[in-house]
Amino acid sequence: MAKRDYYEVLGVARDAGTDEVKKAYRKLAVKFHPDKNPGDKAAEESFKELGEAYEVLSDAQKRANYDHYGHAGADRRSAAGAGSGRAGGFHDPFDIFREVFGGGGGGNVFEEMFGGGRSDPSQPQRGDDLRYDLEISFEEAANGCEREVSVTKPESCKTCTGSGVEAGSKIKNCTTCGGRGQVLSSRGIFSIQQTCPHCQGAGRVVEKPCRDCRGSGRRDQPSKIKLRIPAGVDTGSRLRSSGNGSAGMRGGPHGDLYVVLHVKAHEIFQRDGDDLLCEVPVGFVQASLGAEIEIPTLQGKANIKLPPGTQPGTMFRIKGRGIKNVQGHGQGDLHVRVLVEVPSHLTGPQKAKLEEFAALCNGKESPLRQGFFEKAKNFFK
Ligand SMILES: [Zn+2]
Ligand SMILES: [Zn+2]
Repeated sequence: MAKRDYYEVLGVARDAGTDEVKKAYRKLAVKFHPDKNPGDKAAEESFKELGEAYEVLSDAQKRANYDHYGHAGADRRSAAGAGSGRAGGFHDPFDIFREVFGGGGGGNVFEEMFGGGRSDPSQPQRGDDLRYDLEISFEEAANGCEREVSVTKPESCKTCTGSGVEAGSKIKNCTTCGGRGQVLSSRGIFSIQQTCPHCQGAGRVVEKPCRDCRGSGRRDQPSKIKLRIPAGVDTGSRLRSSGNGSAGMRGGPHGDLYVVLHVKAHEIFQRDGDDLLCEVPVGFVQASLGAEIEIPTLQGKANIKLPPGTQPGTMFRIKGRGIKNVQGHGQGDLHVRVLVEVPSHLTGPQKAKLEEFAALCNGKESPLRQGFFEKAKNFFK
């Protein structure tokens, strides 16, 4: 299918400024965000398309390329192998969304991912989605776990049962704008329509707001939320805890809680996707004679057989002892790298034995070194 023009996607003119592009993106991205349109494939496609259009038109260089060469120009950096691996070389539309809406902070902080905007004080409104950053151990990420987190977030005000209205008081038409939500103001000889400053465009106001929540209908309350973290997650994995965001207003549904995971480093394992790497020190005698050595794995101990003459850096693979794929596509492997240790504090008798050994080898205990000096000789001729 042919790609739509980016200016058309965002509904902006070809000479639109950066602010205008951002504003258009913000408006449409909230409208088409998959969390607001669950299961709607068309909305999801629109959301992706928006991210792409915004990414190009908000960047002076990419925009210039696009203006000159069209979509082929915008795709250029993918040819240079920018590394994201994504078709077309664009960023994750969710990353772009977070960037624009400011969701990048660390620590245990909440960020409202969807701005509230103006709301009609008589209509139910869905609660905000929240973000929670959670640090977990390497083992918890590998094996999955359950965690309970304490979260203080807006819940429905008990005094007014979320209505925001003081008992006995009611919602009435705004007197400033007469319920239209718009007011006329004069600028010189012109009259222009403006959003009503009193009711913020809703046309209605609460006669007497609830004293406990100051009319917002919500108050911050601590709550404990159970999270089930599946095996195989990694730093940056994002879990949605449905219905655990802010309370809605006037009977509107709760928003969702997004948990962004940060996995601590491990003392002996390094992770590469679903595979693990472990470096195991081995004595030079074991490496020379061969030995069976014990290897720690996340699933308990395993043994590997070092053949006689094992060289430093030799890799061994233990199948299936990596990390379970988070999407259920099998399990990674454990890669073991052998580090051969050379003894550094030899006693007199030990030295004597090694010298005896060298004499027995007749200078042939290091075949690679001999080859190296053969080559060096030719080089200096
Ligand atoms: Zn209240
Ligand atoms: Zn008004």
